[in-house]
Amino acid sequence: MNRLKDTILYAVIPCYQEEDALPETINQLGAQFAKMEQAGVISPKSRMVFVDDGSKDQTWQMIRDAAQKDTRIEGIKLSRNVGHQNALLAGLMAVREDCDCCISVDADLQDDIEAIPEFVAAFEQGNDVVYGVRSCRKKDSVFKRTSAKAFYKLMKILGADVVENHADYRLMSRRALNALAEFSEVNLFLRGVVRLVGMPTATVTYARKQRQAGKSKYPLKKMLSFAFDGITSFSIRPIRLVWSLGMLVCFLAVLAAIYSLLAFWGGNSVSGWTSLMISIWFLGGVQLISVGVIGEYIGKIYKEVKRRPRYIIEERIRL
Ligand code: UDP
Ligand code: MG
Repeated sequence: MNRLKDTILYAVIPCYQEEDALPETINQLGAQFAKMEQAGVISPKSRMVFVDDGSKDQTWQMIRDAAQKDTRIEGIKLSRNVGHQNALLAGLMAVREDCDCCISVDADLQDDIEAIPEFVAAFEQGNDVVYGVRSCRKKDSVFKRTSAKAFYKLMKILGADVVENHADYRLMSRRALNALAEFSEVNLFLRGVVRLVGMPTATVTYARKQRQAGKSKYPLKKMLSFAFDGITSFSIRPIRLVWSLGMLVCFLAVLAAIYSLLAFWGGNSVSGWTSLMISIWFLGGVQLISVGVIGEYIGKIYKEVKRRPRYIIEERIRL
């Protein structure tokens, strides 16, 4: 006998110029949803929501046709290309009132959709955020693998809390989505912000697959700017580094001063050299420290303008 569950699962799939991948994605995801529905894992009210991120190809037409044929499919069209993170957020925010939990999936099916029931199971065990973690990245190019590794290392060194080898394949409960909605920052780095939401979390590991059709929509330029965004929206440590550099230069200035004075007293220096040497080093240090001090204040302003929630209530009991 089927165990009937009433977990309403929504999948949000950001799509940018994905006409090559979409037909197969719609098929496979549809089949996976049907399977889970039949097994009683998810409610028949579950939906797949495709977000067209301002594509210029047939993506939106495909989504529209699919939505007309299949009531489990919904479409959202953004007015222009706003990037993966924002497109994903648009989808999540649009569905949060209708679902119990929502999973974000890439349109190229690189993230194994066979793992979705595991995400739902973790959700039912009381986890509000379930991170998909790649167990192996053999199918990614060597370049992508090494650059991603370097990125996670750098994020860690700079003090930003991210889950390693987790992209945006993740399930969030409605409660977590509502908390996410409280973050109104414009430079949104979802992977970092979701960590700040807190609440019980779990991970599901899966093997990352090859992109099933079409090309990656993350060329090097976008990848670098994504990494840079991630770091600068989560860490003011670079500012502190300027500070430390200033202190270091000041220390070197003392050494340089000793050296130039010795040379001066020893009589083997051109006139004017000693004073120039000392001022250059010393001024350099002072300037760096000053920039660091200003930076510290800018860092504070930066934190203020983000207006991040200072706390998130997970539960409240009142009898
Ligand atoms: N994507 C998007 N807007 C963009 C770029 C990408 O919505 O401006 C979507 C894309 O359609 C895909 C997902 O983000 O569903 C991940 O992109 P992709 O697979 O190209 O990235 P990669 O896996 O190469 O990092
Ligand atoms: Mg991909």
